[in-house]
Amino acid sequence: MNRKILTLGFAVLALATACVLHNRQTRDDSRTFRWPSMGTIAQVTVRGNLAHEDDLIARVRDSYTHLESRLSAWDPTSELSRLAADGCTNWLAAVSPDVRPCYAAALRLARESKNAFNPAVGRTLRTLGIGRRGTYASFDLGAIAKGFAVDFAAKQITTGPSESLLLDLGGNLRVLGDRPWRAGIRNPFSCRDASQPAFCAVVVLTNGESVATSGNYERFIEKDGKRLSHILDGRTGEPTHGIAGVTVITPSAYGATLADGLSTTLFVLGPDEGAPFLATYYPQALALWIPDTPSSPRLIATQAMARRLEQATAPIETR
Ligand code: AMP
Ligand code: MG
Repeated sequence: MNRKILTLGFAVLALATACVLHNRQTRDDSRTFRWPSMGTIAQVTVRGNLAHEDDLIARVRDSYTHLESRLSAWDPTSELSRLAADGCTNWLAAVSPDVRPCYAAALRLARESKNAFNPAVGRTLRTLGIGRRGTYASFDLGAIAKGFAVDFAAKQITTGPSESLLLDLGGNLRVLGDRPWRAGIRNPFSCRDASQPAFCAVVVLTNGESVATSGNYERFIEKDGKRLSHILDGRTGEPTHGIAGVTVITPSAYGATLADGLSTTLFVLGPDEGAPFLATYYPQALALWIPDTPSSPRLIATQAMARRLEQATAPIETR
């Protein structure tokens, strides 16, 4: 895993903490479990005395390992890679039933966004030199698989009163249980400029909500000494420009799958196309765009997101 990450210039640890979380009340009744999974860092934070905690962590871990064997675009032996190599076109018919909802959500987002979101970018990513020995699959669910894995793991877990859990897979978070969590939205410019505040805002997340962040600063493609965005415009195949970060909050009806898929889609669309897209197709999702203007940071939020942002460190415009 590390070699792939280094090849790409990915700073996975930093990405995994795209949202740094702290408890609303005390910090000391929480426990965090962390391990590498699905090409990033998986983290589970638990508050309250959960029964069978070890068993719960094992179930989350097993869910991610299982889904990696199905959905990885890196691993040539994964189900996705094998089907892509065979030239699969009817994905929904070909894939295992347990991952079909992930493909369905991805294909729907592609249709609705008129291919701004487009799993076929895997082909371009491969020609840009991603993956070892050209093994990167031509069909890529990297923009949605981690969110799907979080929802998949969440289904294996039940929480009792006053128990609370936060699943985080590479910056895709979902809250389970009644207690709220405060999430800091990372300032994408702080990793290159220590004078910038670490966070651009804070949001409080409640039961069932998910949040996903897509960013350009800590994860990118190095090509001929140049840094290119790892998020491509699926309509043109070109690396995107202009946006440094997008954060999406979704209610439980949408889940982490859509938070993940939407953060990438809205990264490509930008606020001008993205806000009407959201209002048409996903009106319950909240979005924040951070334009790539480090010297004059500003936040562009949907109205509902603007109402949720606390302690903003830059001016907020609404769309
Ligand atoms: P995320 O971090 O969730 O925004 O996902 C970014 C990853 O999604 C990239 O590293 C690519 O593997 C993949 N990707 C890039 N551009 C697109 C796109 N336009 N549509 C779908 N997937 C994409
Ligand atoms: Mg995504």
